[in-house]
Amino acid sequence: MNRPLNLLSIVIPVFNEEEVLPLLLERLAGLVSRMPCQVECLFINDGSRDRTIEGLEQAANEHPWVRVIDFSRNFGHQVAITAGTDFAQGDAVVIMDADLQDPPEVILEMIAKYQEGYDVVYAIRARRPEPFWKRLAYACAYRLIQRASEFTLPRDAGDFAVMSRRVVDILTAMPERRRYLRGLRAWVGFRQTGLKVDRQPRLAGRPKYTLAKLAGLALDGLISFAAPPLRLAGILGALLLL
Ligand code: UDP
Ligand code: MG
Repeated sequence: MNRPLNLLSIVIPVFNEEEVLPLLLERLAGLVSRMPCQVECLFINDGSRDRTIEGLEQAANEHPWVRVIDFSRNFGHQVAITAGTDFAQGDAVVIMDADLQDPPEVILEMIAKYQEGYDVVYAIRARRPEPFWKRLAYACAYRLIQRASEFTLPRDAGDFAVMSRRVVDILTAMPERRRYLRGLRAWVGFRQTGLKVDRQPRLAGRPKYTLAKLAGLALDGLISFAAPPLRLAGILGALLLL
């Protein structure tokens, strides 16, 4: 199958990323010139308190492929991605981080797979440059969510992925408010596959995900996709009643 791909949307949430923004724009400009289709890069400024928005507005003036959504405050990464997918107009949509931990060039491989007929092509984090405690926490959280969930969730897959228009339309129609996108994406079904990608070190600035935000994300994943916590709540309720 060779799926039509006229426009590709790349959704990028940004929170206080003024340091990495010039590097990101340079890498994206290189990618856009090599892409076999039209590209729109949709930046969601998640209430940055530095000069990120000025940088984005300047980029939007310089490049026709840059679009900007500006949040009124910091709503969080998953909300920013959701806004991006809501506004994306492409036949396929990529989600990626701003800090170049997800190498943009991998998108070329992802869309090759997409054109073979896959609805979702996600990156599997083959190697992580993070400190040991963080790698351990990620490994535990992914395995716990995977074991507890009642359908197959790919292990070590983050949000970096390309999704077909029909997958994006289903995600957009889903009413969940606290979203664990990598889980919802797997739940949707269709043909999905993973690509092994070495996760790169953050190219500039400091991580914006605090420990509390990371724990919140893992908890959202567990509560949204695992039956045991809900059953436990039911059993505790029944015991209390007795
Ligand atoms: N981010 C965001 N809102 C937040 C926290 C992070 O939009 O409240 C963005 C951030 O700018 C980056 C992506 O989400 O593009 C991933 O964040 P980070 O690199 O800090 O996460 P990590 O790689 O440490 O998991
Ligand atoms: Mg990062």
